[in-house]
Amino acid sequence: MPYAFCPGCDQRIFLRKDPKVGDMVYCPNCEDQLEVVAVDPIELDWPWDEDEEETAEWDDEEEEEDWEDDDEDE
Ligand SMILES: [Zn+2]
Repeated sequence: MPYAFCPGCDQRIFLRKDPKVGDMVYCPNCEDQLEVVAVDPIELDWPWDEDEEETAEWDDEEEEEDWEDDDEDE
């Protein structure tokens, strides 16, 4: 059975027989969801969900900047 190591804790994680890039796996040690990012050799990485949350925060700041720009235009 193919396996890879968790990037967070080095836990050995077994994958299904024919892993593909984009497959989601679960680390029982970190309780984290991981994505297969390479298959030869198999590499795991965190999916980008957390970054999307940060992007949402950035949108708020951009709104504030727009507000200031409006002031300057007038
Ligand atoms: Zn882990």
